[in-house]
Amino acid sequence: MRIDVVRKSLLTDNERAAAMNRALLNEAGVMAINVLGGAGCGKTTLLEGIIPRLSREFSVAVLEGDIATTRDAERIASLGVPVVQLLTDGACHLSATLVYHGLDRLELDALDLLFIENVGNPICPANFDLGEHGRLAVLSVTEGDDKPYKYPYLFKTANRVVISKLDLLPHCDFDLDRAMAGIHALGPEKPIDRIVMNDPRSMEPLIAWLRDRARLAVPVS
Ligand code: MG
Repeated sequence: MRIDVVRKSLLTDNERAAAMNRALLNEAGVMAINVLGGAGCGKTTLLEGIIPRLSREFSVAVLEGDIATTRDAERIASLGVPVVQLLTDGACHLSATLVYHGLDRLELDALDLLFIENVGNPICPANFDLGEHGRLAVLSVTEGDDKPYKYPYLFKTANRVVISKLDLLPHCDFDLDRAMAGIHALGPEKPIDRIVMNDPRSMEPLIAWLRDRARLAVPVS
């Protein structure tokens, strides 16, 4: 009797596409940052805060992931940087293949820094390598301080974490120390930014970190 066996291949389709994306980005000298976090945590607003500062020095572009609409891409386009909207048509995360098609629409050789804003979701996107060099996780104080404990993979795989909407802290049941302890339990050295969206000074350390990586093409760690 012959039994057919289907094994998971050593490299899945997503991993293959991610490796291809990384090779394309490396060849063009583009630093790519995957921005992840739940719906409404402030990913697009954060990009609106940091891109005008970074685009004075660097050539910046954005791949904007969403399930539907071009709303976020329109917000980014108004900053005057190239943007491609990636629509997943219902899927809860970006895939490396979709990112590959997005990269195809950009002039990579002319770029220094690429942000890939993932679909608003604290769960699935963290499981998919897109070929990025670094990950930025965003957590807003309106979401609750238990999220690093409930969605550890998002925070564990992030190189840096932004806690956003700090100005709303007095109105939220959010223990900053508890949230930060949860993040640091997953990575004791992980930098955490506490950001107020309309306070540019709160974004300084994050901008400096991104600037160093874009300028020196230092691998993100
Ligand atoms: Mg968004």
